[in-house]
Parts: sequence; C-alpha cells; structure tokens
Amino acid sequence: ASLDKRPPARKPESAGRPRVAVLLPLPFPGPFDYAVPPALTDLQPGDIVSVPLGRRTETGVVWDPTPALPPEFTPPPMKAVADGRLKPVISRLDQPPLPGALRRFVDWVAAYTLSPPGMVLAMALRTAATAPVTPTTGWTVAEPPPDLRETPARRRVLEIAASDGPLPGAELARRAGVGTSVVRGLADAGALRAVVLKPAPPFAAPDPAHCPPTLGDGQKEAAQSLRDLAGAGGFSVTLLEGVTGSGKTEIYMEAIAACLERGRQVLVLLPEIALSAQWTGRFTRRFGAEPALWHSDLSPRLRRVTWHAVAEGTARVVVGARSALFLPFAELGLIIVDEEHESAFKQEDGVTYHARDMAVVRARMDHAPILLVSATPSLETLANVGAGRYRHLALTARHGGATMPEVRTIDMRANPPERGLFLSPVLTEAMQATMARGEQAMLFLNRRGYAPLTLCRTCGHRLQCPNCTAWLVEHRARRVITCHHCGYQEPTPPTCPSCHAEASLTPIGPGVERITEEARATFPDARLLVMASDTLPGPAATADAVAQIARREVDLVIGTQIVAKGWHFPHLTLVGVVDADLGLGGGDLRAAERTVQLLHQVAGRAGRAEAPGTVLLQSYCTEHPVMQALVSGDFASFMRQEAEQRRPGFWPPFGRLAALIVSADTPEAADATAQALGASAPRGDGLQVLGPAPAPLAILRGRHRRRLLLRARREIALQPIVRQWLERVAPERGARIDVDIDPVSF
Ligand code: ADP
Ligand code: ZN
Repeated sequence: ASLDKRPPARKPESAGRPRVAVLLPLPFPGPFDYAVPPALTDLQPGDIVSVPLGRRTETGVVWDPTPALPPEFTPPPMKAVADGRLKPVISRLDQPPLPGALRRFVDWVAAYTLSPPGMVLAMALRTAATAPVTPTTGWTVAEPPPDLRETPARRRVLEIAASDGPLPGAELARRAGVGTSVVRGLADAGALRAVVLKPAPPFAAPDPAHCPPTLGDGQKEAAQSLRDLAGAGGFSVTLLEGVTGSGKTEIYMEAIAACLERGRQVLVLLPEIALSAQWTGRFTRRFGAEPALWHSDLSPRLRRVTWHAVAEGTARVVVGARSALFLPFAELGLIIVDEEHESAFKQEDGVTYHARDMAVVRARMDHAPILLVSATPSLETLANVGAGRYRHLALTARHGGATMPEVRTIDMRANPPERGLFLSPVLTEAMQATMARGEQAMLFLNRRGYAPLTLCRTCGHRLQCPNCTAWLVEHRARRVITCHHCGYQEPTPPTCPSCHAEASLTPIGPGVERITEEARATFPDARLLVMASDTLPGPAATADAVAQIARREVDLVIGTQIVAKGWHFPHLTLVGVVDADLGLGGGDLRAAERTVQLLHQVAGRAGRAEAPGTVLLQSYCTEHPVMQALVSGDFASFMRQEAEQRRPGFWPPFGRLAALIVSADTPEAADATAQALGASAPRGDGLQVLGPAPAPLAILRGRHRRRLLLRARREIALQPIVRQWLERVAPERGARIDVDIDPVSF
C-alpha cells in the first residue's frame, strides 16, 4: 500500500494475523510490516519498539499513514509481505511515544526533500529515544548491624547520610570527604540502605510574570499583537522585521510569555549555537528559569534527559539549532526562527532541508503560530508577505533613542592602503580617533586564517588541497595550511613543494590573522581580541569574549562571521569592513542578497547604546547596488530590485528549484552520469533544466561533482518530476546522485 493508503496500525484479526507498520531509522523507502504478538495487542502508532531485521535487532516506531500528504509527494508503494513471512515485534520500549504531529512532520519532510522517511526519523530519534533515563540509587542510613566496625571515615559517611541523605554514592563520599569504597563497605555491611531517587525535573518552569519589560511606544503595539497571536494559538506565519537593536528579541519574549501562560511549549531556533549563551542569559532574566538547550554537541546524557523532558512536557522552552525541529514536543504552542534569513539554517549533508521552511511545516502540523524574525528578511519570506501568505509586523526605530549607525564607503581605488597592507588610511585614522575617545572599534573580515592563498614567487605554484578544488589556507598561529572544505591539513611547508625554492612562498590576500597582525603593528597599545571560530572553541568561550567586550576590557575586536551575530556591544561605535566586496564574486544569483544581509548585520553591532555608531565599508566597487543599499539603509528598495531581477526567469522565490548533484570517484563516471541525467531530463511547459556543469566545488573530498538545476514555475510540484527523472537514470559505478530541493546557492 502507498503511504496514504496504508492500513491502520493494527489490522482486525479477521483480516489475517494482526500486523503493524514499523518505520526504522534506516534508508528504506518506507515502513515494514511486523506481526503483533499476543502480549502487544495494544500497540499504538508512535510506540517505540524493538524489531528483528535480518539477524539484527533494530529500534523503530509504530507508523501510521499521513493523510494530508499530497499524492504526488507520496513515495512508491512497498511490497506487502504475506502473513506467513511476517516477523513479530520483539518488545515495546519503555519510552514516551513519538507524537502524531512529529510523525506527520517526518513523513512530510521526507516527501518534500525526497529522502527516505527512515533517514528523517533518524534525526528525530538520534540516540535520545533508544535508552531510558536511568534512575539513580541513593543511600540512606539503615538500622546499623550490631557487629558494625566503626571508623572515623565510616562515622562521617553515616552522619552525612543521616542529615543530607538519600544521596548517590559518589556524592555521599564526596561530601564526607572519603573514597567511594567506604560507602560501598557500609552498604555491604547493611548500614546503608538503597532507595531509588526520583529524578528531579531537569528544567525549572519559566515564569511569564517574573520580570516583564517596560516597552517603548513603538514596541507596545507589536508586542500586543504577538501576545494575541501566541495566546490564541492556531497556525499562522508572521514576519517580525525591525532594524538591529529595535527590540525584536525583547518583543518576541512577550509572545513566549503568552504561549507559556496558555500552557504550551515553545521552540526557538537560532542559526548558530554560539548565540545560545547570550540568549539564555536574556531569557533567564526575563523568566527566572533557564530554557532547555538542544544542539549536536550535547552530551549523550543531557541529550537523553532533554529529549524525555521535551516529550513529557517538563521542558517548556527549548532553544536550539535546526535539529531541535525534530524533538517530540508534547504540546508545542509557538515556534520562533530568529535571524530567519541565515543560510546556516540550511542543512547540507544527509537529509538536505531548510530549517526555516520546515519550521513553518512543523508549526502547521502542530497548529501553532510561527514567528520569523530578521532585520534583513530573506527574499523568500518577503515574497510570502507580498503574496499575503504571511503577516508582517515591523519595528522601525532602535530602542531607547539609539540611532542607526551612519554607513559610509571607502573607495579603495582612491584611498589605497600602503603596500602589503589592507587597511586604508581613512579607516585607520577613524579607528585611532574612536579608541582615543575611549570607545571600541571592530574590524570585520569574513575569512579565517592568515591568507586565503599561498603562492610560490619563483615558479608560480599555488598550494592546493589534494582532495578539493580549493586553495589551502595558511593558519600561521597553528603553523599549518588547511582546506576549509574537507579539513585536510599539513604543516606549512618551509620551501615550495614544486620547485623547492627557499623563502619563496608568499601569502596572497588577507585573512583575519593577517589583519590582526597589521592592527597590532598599527595600534601597539590597543587591547585586541580576535573572535573567530578557531579562537573560540565553543559557546562558553564565545560568551566569555562577548562579556569581556561588554566590560570594556577590549579596545579593538577583530572577527569573522561570528561577530556579525546578534551580539549587543554597548561601547562599540566603529565597525570597519575590511573587504565589503568579498561575497559578491562567484556568479551566485543570491550573492548580493547575502552580502547585504551579512554586512547589515555586522553594521548593526555599532552604536547600540547612547553614542552613535559609524560603519566604514572598504570597497573597490562603491557604486554597486549592495554598497548603495547599505549606505542608504533602504533595504526595501534593494530587495524590490532583487526581486525584479529574479522574477522574469522564475528564479526562487518566484519559481521552484532543485539541484541534482552527481558525485563520483572518477571524472569519467561523474560526466557519464551527469550526461545520462541531461539526456533524460524532464521536459514540459514551465520547466527548464540547466547543466550539467561542474558543481560549485568541482572536486570535494576527492569526489568529482557535477550539477544540474531543474527550474519550474511556482505552481509545479518538483518532487514527482525529480522522482521520475531519477527512476530513468542508473548512476555509473562509483557515482551517486543527491537531490537538493530549494538549494541556497544557484
Ligand atoms: P533586536 O533583537 O531587534 O536586535 P534587542 O531585542 O536585542 O533588539 O534590543 C536591543 C537592545 O535594547 C537590547 O540590549 C535590549 O535589552 C534593549 N531593549 C530593547 N527594548 C527594550 C525595552 N523595552 N526595555 C529595555 N531594554 C530594551
Ligand atoms: Zn579539501
């Protein structure tokens, strides 16, 4: 049976042996049927079960059909297994079941992204569901046996157990200042009795009335409409747009409050988990309790505890990266996607999906409102607002009288830096003046390492990654050259690997390390802090750096991408963008939009408190519409122009796009497969296939890559067309085809 015609989880006895469909977290096209043993006749959809698969035992979920799935999205039917060949379910795990809304979501994401549903389920299960949270044992004093040998250590343990117990063994030993063997000895002797400790709820309940803000005039109305939305529930999508510092976060916290008052859970998605520390601090001040955190670096234990707390509803607010979308919320009442325009929401490996778009789907499944928040909304979201599909709330002014920074370009053709340097005199003078006033300055360059390219001056050889079509980037502090795409690295060679000339390798262009070197030389007395993913190994280190800046222990901040996030730096008044043109090359239609979003975000770090801010953009093309938009601050017109460029050719968001990426061991296999795809490309009104062409990284991790783009009018569903297309083509040996629906670069 196809997905939408699959029988209910348990067939009546009369139709043969009772059976259930079980979806396994593996790349099969759909769920498998299993026999229901007599002890498990009450199995329900969502139950997590153990089943045999070949000679292995797997954990899966009792599955039921998703009726709302459009038939053209439905994966091909699976062969039915005869009663006699059905294997029975082994057992039901002692786990909270996967909620219906999450099961529908899994099916939907799988159908939309053309992924096996089991691979999407795998994201929902992870390690979390397969092991219960184990109860811990605590020790309390028992009637002491008459023959108990007493020592001072044993006496201390018994005293602590009597006053503070029951406590887990290790904790009891720690408080008594003894080894755990003393506790074990007392337990063996019968002087301590084991009791099962009821785990304390890991997450305290946030209190919506804990510390409500005093909202400004421009904020009250927006906050009230968000409160109304979240308080009423029901599916709707709202864009919350406002310049950086206008109080968007402050205001959406009120939507969270309303949702909590309604007794529902909240999911907040952040593009980057580095932001979570500052966010958590703000949330905790507002609600008097911490939110639950979810990201891929959680310890297995915390992952389990959080998964269960979300399923049981004891975690009321979850803040996390995109994978938090697959948590088993018991009663989800609101989703917020902060910085909705960020491309970090796109997951590029495994199941490729855009977390912002899938969050909208999830909200629909849970009948919950969703807020998309940004100072520079994506063209996709603006188009949805324009078409009346999304509501729009705008905040126009910065909070508390802070003004928007003044943005100016520095024409590098007229103001060249000195030879071998990268900061123009105009910029260094402005930095000097800013720091002399006791204010902070920041330099932004979206490039890690010392130099993006290293070249031999004698023979012209360029250091290139052996596995990718990419230069090796020198990281001088670590004395290595490394590939930013595959992670390949080697010690920086002392001589040219090709002609062996000595002292001939030359760095070309600046990376953030090189700018730091230049700034150190130019401002030897400035207290300097570098913020880059290499120098800040985790959210805690990032939070620490941000706190240092806020405490004014730093005069000059130099950073990559990471400084562009929603940080609040009250004493920062000057931002210098070292290379404003950096993102514009490469022929990607979205480059201009992305550059405006990134640079506006960077600019937004300046002048967030009383002192006004200035932003200086070093550029070789100051007349470019991107620079003009940043200077004028008129993003609405810029985005309208962008839209007009994409509309005629049906480029997203005015049409649909799918990328087929062929990757293979050899260039021959890649070309043959790509050409086969090209030869059997779908034809039709409103459809166009572009390519095959080399993919943006023609070689990645040693695999040769080609790309075809399928473009279609908005009203055409791409999924069935792509599915049929793939059925017509068998990849060559060693080749595979990956589908990326709604690719972020094109
Ligand atoms: P955005 O998310 O739009 O960048 P934020 O919500 O971070 O803006 O607000 C910017 C700064 O202004 C923050 O430090 C925030 O605490 C402060 N702020 C905004 N609104 C208020 C308010 N009503 N009362 C007090 N502080 C506010
Ligand atoms: Zn590489």
